[in-house]
Amino acid sequence: MNRRHFLASLAAAGTQLPAAAPKNLKITSVQVLVTNPGQTTNGNYVLVKILTSEPGLYGWGDATCTGSELGVAKFLEEHLTPGMLGRDPMRIEDLWQTLFFLPYYRSGSVHMSAISGVDMALWDIKGKVAGLPVYELLGGRVRDKLLTYTSAGGRNYQEVEEGVRRLMARGYKVIKVQVSAPGLESGYAVPQSDRQRAATAQAHAEGVAPTEIWEPGPYVRTLPKLFEHLRKTVGEDIDLLHDVHERVTPSQAIVLAKALEPYGLFFLEDLLRPENLDTFRIIRQQSSTPLAMGEIFTGQWDGLNLITEHLIDYVRHDLAHVGGVTTGKKVATMCEPYGILTAWHGPGNISPITHMANAHVSLSVPNFGIQEYATGWGNPIREVFSAIPTFADGYVDVGDQPGLGIDVNEAAAKKYPYLRRLRPAIRRRDGTPWPY
Ligand SMILES: [Mg+2]
Repeated sequence: MNRRHFLASLAAAGTQLPAAAPKNLKITSVQVLVTNPGQTTNGNYVLVKILTSEPGLYGWGDATCTGSELGVAKFLEEHLTPGMLGRDPMRIEDLWQTLFFLPYYRSGSVHMSAISGVDMALWDIKGKVAGLPVYELLGGRVRDKLLTYTSAGGRNYQEVEEGVRRLMARGYKVIKVQVSAPGLESGYAVPQSDRQRAATAQAHAEGVAPTEIWEPGPYVRTLPKLFEHLRKTVGEDIDLLHDVHERVTPSQAIVLAKALEPYGLFFLEDLLRPENLDTFRIIRQQSSTPLAMGEIFTGQWDGLNLITEHLIDYVRHDLAHVGGVTTGKKVATMCEPYGILTAWHGPGNISPITHMANAHVSLSVPNFGIQEYATGWGNPIREVFSAIPTFADGYVDVGDQPGLGIDVNEAAAKKYPYLRRLRPAIRRRDGTPWPY
């Protein structure tokens, strides 16, 4: 849809926009909407709507930060919104910097998720004013569609193999594989045992955090055997990757990166806490397994050494936590001269608005690697959100609607209120707290 068609569609809906960009445009209202379409465990979304002095001209952004949803909503309403009212929504970088310095004690997941939601909404507005998709404003498409991946998890090698085959049949070219370790009732991105599932449901019913037990030793010994099994059974014509979720010690991370080398992973994700820079330097000397990091970063300054020392191969910043479209474009540009590629975080616990923002940035950067994409969007999600990147044969794409190309049905969203679902506390068998 070009600008002329967009204006015509607005006119048909009773909304008129001037032929040229509106003069003296002002932000008149910032509204925060917390919704959980489908009332799922990971589905509390914090949505930001910015309205302007131009009737009918507004933008939507995603400020979802799982685990701090209501903190972000309150922070937006009380501490950022007053700094935006009356300002020009076209001055995105100006507003980004204004909101960053406004609270004085800056950065962190709550502050940066709030800025991310605002930033996406401002790019949405700018695109609508221009009558162009956001990727056009970022320099235009560098590719026709985005290579994507999703997960196959199982409690044993056969279950993972079956999941991989199902996804291959749907056209996926790259698949993340996760398996349970012997003796453990849960793990990252794997099905829980029946007993663990019941205990988790009980904790959720009581409104408290469930506990899961984790031991890294059995996991480190099991994982290479999963890849050995998959390469023997599904062959070499599929790219595989894996997410460690930082659940190992520094020395185990070295062992794992070396042990997985023969299986030619697409990348190994979140191998270690990003603070363990010294270990990343050792791993790079000892293993050629490609590494991906970034989903817990909360700004363009996080992980800078990982980039400038080329200790990783893919950046996985979450555009809903690092500062939106603006920061995504900056991070990609920082990575370009190092040959580091993008793989923006794209799970189901960030809303379709971020998935659309991910796609717009991914389409426009030269150093795109892959785009994570959540599957299984249910009917309540589709009732609330007008668009989700479309999947076909292992790739995703967005249309050519102006802005981010997504709208929110507010009446539908209000049917699905916030639901408290605390994330699990991960502990070793001796009770030691451990990274999720
Ligand atoms: Mg991850």
